[in-house]
Amino acid sequence: MYRDHNNSELNILSLNKKVTLSGWVQKIRDKGFIIWVDLRDRYGITQLVFDSERTSKEIMEQARELGREFVIQVEGQVLERESKNENIATGEIEVLVEKLTVLNASETPPFTIEDKTDGGEDLRMKYRYLDIRRNPVKNKLIFRSKVSMAVRNYLSQQDFVEVETPYLIKSTPEGARDFVVPSRMNAGQFYALPQSPQTFKQLLMVGGLDKYFQIVKCFRDEDLRADRQPEFTQIDCEMTFVEQEDILNTFEGLTKHLLKEINGVEVQEFPRMTYDEAMKTYGNDKPDIRFGMKFGELNAVAQHKEFKVFNEAELVVGISIPGAASYSRKEIDKLIDWVKRPQVGAKGMVYVKYNEDGSLKSSVDKFYDEADLKAWVDKTNAKPSDLICILSGDANATRAQLSALRMEMGNRLGLRKPNEFAPLWVIDFPLLEWDEDTKRYHAMHHPFTSPKVGQIPLLATDPGAVKANAYDLVLNGNEIGGGSIRIHDQKTQALMFDYLGFTKEEAEAQFGFLMKAFTYGAPPHGGIAFGLDRLVAILGGQESIRDFIAFPKNNSGRDIMIDAPAPIDEEQLKELDLKLRS
Ligand code: ASP
Repeated sequence: MYRDHNNSELNILSLNKKVTLSGWVQKIRDKGFIIWVDLRDRYGITQLVFDSERTSKEIMEQARELGREFVIQVEGQVLERESKNENIATGEIEVLVEKLTVLNASETPPFTIEDKTDGGEDLRMKYRYLDIRRNPVKNKLIFRSKVSMAVRNYLSQQDFVEVETPYLIKSTPEGARDFVVPSRMNAGQFYALPQSPQTFKQLLMVGGLDKYFQIVKCFRDEDLRADRQPEFTQIDCEMTFVEQEDILNTFEGLTKHLLKEINGVEVQEFPRMTYDEAMKTYGNDKPDIRFGMKFGELNAVAQHKEFKVFNEAELVVGISIPGAASYSRKEIDKLIDWVKRPQVGAKGMVYVKYNEDGSLKSSVDKFYDEADLKAWVDKTNAKPSDLICILSGDANATRAQLSALRMEMGNRLGLRKPNEFAPLWVIDFPLLEWDEDTKRYHAMHHPFTSPKVGQIPLLATDPGAVKANAYDLVLNGNEIGGGSIRIHDQKTQALMFDYLGFTKEEAEAQFGFLMKAFTYGAPPHGGIAFGLDRLVAILGGQESIRDFIAFPKNNSGRDIMIDAPAPIDEEQLKELDLKLRS
């Protein structure tokens, strides 16, 4: 038996007990006649003591040979400590060692394995298994496991069936590039890894399974913007005989359950906002509604003077930043530089200081008088001591820029509190999205999403105006889930592929199996998928998903621990009937 207690179990009630413990050597303090060792395992730390007055000479010598991260087993007696440590469960006791066995020695680790480490990100990723020994990483993995378990419990109780779907499939269009896998048995042919199990879960509904879920890996070959992973996990769900309202209620229930179970937070009914409203008021389809700074559109009150910049703009829009009227010229210039950074892309920024005494001072006083500025104050809901920041230009771009500024100021002013939760349903998404590069409409969600009842004729005349039965669940400014009611008849699905620019042959080759299934009594159905990594990070009060993933990839999609991806040898290429171009 390696141990009879773990390293957080012993306390004052265990005094004088003979115990056997195992674990890693975290810290050694050698005072010559007395040596203390912190013994660590997943559960905690127990202090071991080797005392030359009470411990045999051989064991004292053995203890002196120990190094950090050695794996040891000890037998000894639980004694009360002289100087107690209230911060840990075992802080009142120590174990006087009577027998020491080194189970495995360790090289000196490349960084300190403690809550605060001296290891940089790359080094810790390379030795991820050592990093996982540290509380901050280990606890996040345990936290993730709890969330997954709560999801499984809730959905099982609601009669959802967990079904595994295949990974070696054909392309599923979720808007990214596919990862492909060459087939040895079918030379010259390739599987695609699923961007999501979308078509399979729909087929499970045709199969009559009624309620499906799966905690599942999805693969998308995208350029990795900050904090994305090429393989990530979804809580993927689908239901039969449901309308949008049924889905929203079911998954609002799941989210409330998680917030209560995991965070002990009770939230009221989730507010709902249409996509159009979200874009107009927050410039963003996943607004963080924990704070205000709502957009005020100023076209009507800013385009009547000689200021060309505003007059030529499609949209003039501002937000009022609380308490920022006191910013110095230098601070405001810095803010202007911030919105002009290429990542944000504004050409400039107009501002109005609404001073505490009620006076107004703007960067465009040459063009506008006090009555004008007062109107801007009204539109942006500014209060004395606020700074109104105004951007202008092309509507979409300007909204995105002002939204970036709003989020930045939300962060700087501490308005995005990690333990405050503000869920929001965004509904009525457009069905299609214009793509400037390909000069075509694309499905905004995916091609299986159904248009709102009665809107199909609009596809012919004003495709951009067609709204979908599609919805996103937003939590604290992050899209944590998205889904739709699906098309379930073959004709509409074929029509949709046609509008999306698929030829009949292409649609048949790629999705013939689904359209065929739709001819055999496909029931009305719909679903949603949550991004589990992001959801867990937010519930854990963190912005970054990386630490909640046991073995994440870096920004170039590499696993630097196992050094992948890697070349394969000539023999393997031959077997796959592949030749490299370079
Ligand atoms: N398959 C979709 C996605 O990955 C989710 C859904 O429509 O259920 O975003």
